[in-house]
Amino acid sequence: MPRDYYEILGVPRSATDPELKKAYRQLAMQFHPDRNRGDKDAEDRFKEVSEAYGVLSDPEKRAHFDRFGTVGSTAGGGFTDTGFGTLFEDIFENFFSGGSRSSRRSRASHGEDLQYELKITLEEAASGVETKIQIPRLEPCGVCRGTGVESGSQLETCDFCRGRGEVRRTHGFLTVAQPCPKCQGAGQLNRRPCPSCRGEGRQRSERLLSVKIPAGIEDGMQLRLSGEGSGGINGGPAGDLYVLVRIREHEIFARDGVDLYCDLPVAFPQLALGAEVEVPVLDGTVKLRIPPGSQPGQVLKLKGKGMPHLRQRGHGDAGYRLILEVPQKLNAKQREALLAFEAASKQERGPLALAFLERMKKLFG
Ligand SMILES: [Zn+2]
Ligand SMILES: [Zn+2]
Repeated sequence: MPRDYYEILGVPRSATDPELKKAYRQLAMQFHPDRNRGDKDAEDRFKEVSEAYGVLSDPEKRAHFDRFGTVGSTAGGGFTDTGFGTLFEDIFENFFSGGSRSSRRSRASHGEDLQYELKITLEEAASGVETKIQIPRLEPCGVCRGTGVESGSQLETCDFCRGRGEVRRTHGFLTVAQPCPKCQGAGQLNRRPCPSCRGEGRQRSERLLSVKIPAGIEDGMQLRLSGEGSGGINGGPAGDLYVLVRIREHEIFARDGVDLYCDLPVAFPQLALGAEVEVPVLDGTVKLRIPPGSQPGQVLKLKGKGMPHLRQRGHGDAGYRLILEVPQKLNAKQREALLAFEAASKQERGPLALAFLERMKKLFG
């Protein structure tokens, strides 16, 4: 579901980049998984603030969000790594290096969340659709079962940091802890990496998933497929997959919530005399009655012919805006008929014309 990223970070819409960063740091530290072990709410909040910052710190994404209230995604239905992990590392790289995170890399951790943009038609949004999507993602390596180590071999304790993952350097009065350069903070060394995944523990793979899009879904809504993101690291849980639904523009209908609208070109006699015309609905055509004396711009509605309510009974309406089309050329017979019509109606003015004449009289005496 689209959320207000400014609200999540608790900043005004005018917030500058440093203000955003400050707000993000504060919240991310408060909800960081390392400080809230096993607290699912904190973890969700952490993801939420990370996502919000990920969007608002990117000028392009922020502009898109300001304009449309949604996150613009890669065009053409690709997938993007929402990148909570890397974002976190960017900002906190130096922050925790002196703390207790010495063996971060060797510890089990969550796989990345992924986002997939799925384009569907308005008809599919109306009926609901079950479709298959191909998701490229990282999965635990089957050969080493995600450990990254060749079978029969084991991780060795790093001799440089003696397994602590960090080294301390003294500058004058100050002792600074830094991640161990040999093991990159893992505290362990992989001397015999699994040849299949080159020690990563995970491999690129594609997975075919079935997604059920509920009837009535709106453009920009996201479905969360729990555990269908990238596989976890060192046996950690998999991330989630977010399917962002985009609805293609329709040839005829514009959508406003559960209502549909279209412009219906009509001729003057149809408005004046009334008519029955065939109009499109999402699943075919139906007859629409134009009452005599209808006005251009008037919207005629067909009850229940709009979009279904999401996870609720009932449908919205389909509205047809009457667009008067005046002939640009007249044949002799039409001309004659119209002149006769004009001659017959000279003394009669409609309420709009009469009111206008009144106003002119007032103005010019
Ligand atoms: Zn492997
Ligand atoms: Zn080391």
